[in-house]
Amino acid sequence: MPQVIDGKQISAQIKDEVKEKVARLKEQGTTVCLAVIQVGADPASSVYVGNKKKACAYVGIESLSYELPEETSQAELLSLIDGLNKKPEVNGILVQLPLPGHIDEDAVIRAIDPKKDVDGFHPQSVGALCIGQPGFVSCTPAGIIELLKRSGIEIAGKECVVIGRSNIVGKPMAILLLRENGTVTVTHSRTRDLKEVTRRADILVVAIGRPKMITKEYVKDGAVVIDVGIHRNENNKLCGDVDYEDVAPVCSAITPVPGGVGPMTIAMLMYNCVRSIELQ
Ligand code: NAD
Repeated sequence: MPQVIDGKQISAQIKDEVKEKVARLKEQGTTVCLAVIQVGADPASSVYVGNKKKACAYVGIESLSYELPEETSQAELLSLIDGLNKKPEVNGILVQLPLPGHIDEDAVIRAIDPKKDVDGFHPQSVGALCIGQPGFVSCTPAGIIELLKRSGIEIAGKECVVIGRSNIVGKPMAILLLRENGTVTVTHSRTRDLKEVTRRADILVVAIGRPKMITKEYVKDGAVVIDVGIHRNENNKLCGDVDYEDVAPVCSAITPVPGGVGPMTIAMLMYNCVRSIELQ
């Protein structure tokens, strides 16, 4: 049977490490503060925002909460961000996505001071990542690197295949694997023979957004499979982009859904909040 990579346990470990750092900073008179902005009341976003605030409370990071009505204008949102950029006591700014249709998400991401961009979505953060300079790294892919390292899985020299090229998962994932000296291939909806490419992977990262699409036909014997997808199936149970029951028997290690990649995203957000002190 494969090694089941325990994201719950690893994320708890990271949160405890962050908690210790936050306590040490407090002793030196520095508090860490994250501003969380939500526009509208999308139920999924409310759950994510609630979980982020809970994690802040656990590690000792102060959180400021801005719950704005759906009809908030882009100018009002940009003005709030501008004010938070100027406040020295605010270390990180997070705008929960997606935003209502009348607001330009790119403009909002660009408005956040790159030194407070704890989500790592600002073009300056992405550029720094590409050329190997210090900056914030998008939380989900950063969490996947931690999962691999802390599970004793070597990346250097391995064939790494990423399925998906989104700005928040696929692309930064590919760059991070490259930074760890993997040999990286990025596949997407226009890839001609997906199975042929994914079957070369020693490490396969799946971020497609299609429930249980990846079956054992896509996976080489002994591969490490990381499943980023989150969906609810017909019985309202969580499942990933990988058909776990089908794939698990052929791989050497795999992340479950839930309890794999999911919990890492918030743990890495907490890590980024502390990192903001260093970057500032
Ligand atoms: P996205 O929709 O932005 O990107 C999906 C990517 O998959 C695209 O680049 C597309 O080219 C590719 N794709 C689509 N159909 C394909 C096909 N048939 N063959 C090959 N490639 C195909 O999605 P995203 O934001 O990257 O998220 C992917 C999944 O991960 C979603 O299920 C999302 O909910 C989940 N997610 C989880 C976390 C977490 O914390 N665990 C964080 C972000 C996203």
